[in-house]
Amino acid sequence: MIKNPVPWPNGARCAVAFTFDMDADSILHLAHHASADTRLAAMSMLRYGPEIAVPRLVDLYQRFGLRQTFFLPAWCMERYPAAVDTILAGGHEIAHHGYLHEHPNELSAEEELYWLQRGIDVIVTMTGERPRGFRAPTYKFSRHTLSHLLNAGFLYDASLMGDDVPYLLEHEAGRLVELPSHYALDDWPHFMISRDFNYYMSIKPPRQAMELYAGEFDAMWEYGGLWIAVWHPFLSGRLARCMAIAELMEYMHKKGQVWFARLDEIAAHVNTLIEDGTWTPRVDRLPYYPGPIPELGEVAPALSR
Ligand SMILES: [Zn+2]
Repeated sequence: MIKNPVPWPNGARCAVAFTFDMDADSILHLAHHASADTRLAAMSMLRYGPEIAVPRLVDLYQRFGLRQTFFLPAWCMERYPAAVDTILAGGHEIAHHGYLHEHPNELSAEEELYWLQRGIDVIVTMTGERPRGFRAPTYKFSRHTLSHLLNAGFLYDASLMGDDVPYLLEHEAGRLVELPSHYALDDWPHFMISRDFNYYMSIKPPRQAMELYAGEFDAMWEYGGLWIAVWHPFLSGRLARCMAIAELMEYMHKKGQVWFARLDEIAAHVNTLIEDGTWTPRVDRLPYYPGPIPELGEVAPALSR
């Protein structure tokens, strides 16, 4: 089913990473800059992430002996330094998730680079290390993101969805490890309800979402894939959902032969396999197209109406 399964460490059947994107209220300021301060209920829901959920999740990881990756917009790090300290104290990785959750593919190359650099500066100041990983806010990876990441010395990206196993993104500037995920492993479609974002999913029992995540995990375990959850503390860190996550972790541990790792460890493993010739990943050259495809020409606007 997977043509090119990865030799995971210690004979593991698959690699698992529970990654959390701690967006907090950055997304509210981005969506409603002029009125975000008046939207207190939405604010409280989003602040639940750094204030309540992050310490709870770090405790949960500790219970299972896990070290994982958190993606933080740098503005959220400045705003919620206690959450940063909690994450670092747990031995977890902090990776780049924009400055204020800005969307790279809606910016010019120069603007994108400015916010990327501003985020790097905050991460260096607050963690003492350069970020190794990047996830584009709202998956909005741009035509310029890859070259910016290569020039800034990143180890991996985790924004794209092009495979079940790690692969390489290629550009004139070099190659970068891509650690892909998929909407099926994102928690917004399961849990997000907010009038302020015009996003209304039906409320469901946490176990129903976990059933889907477990099904994705079983498939990756069977065929040697990579399972990366893209979750948000303000959504999946709510109490009943956290209890369900603990059950899912229990299930994975019981099944066994799973490599639980931070994304920087997974990317480093991929690079080691490439260097010693044990495994060769697939390569995607970016961008996929130099511009709009010419075939439809001037009729395209009429067809897409
Ligand atoms: Zn985000």
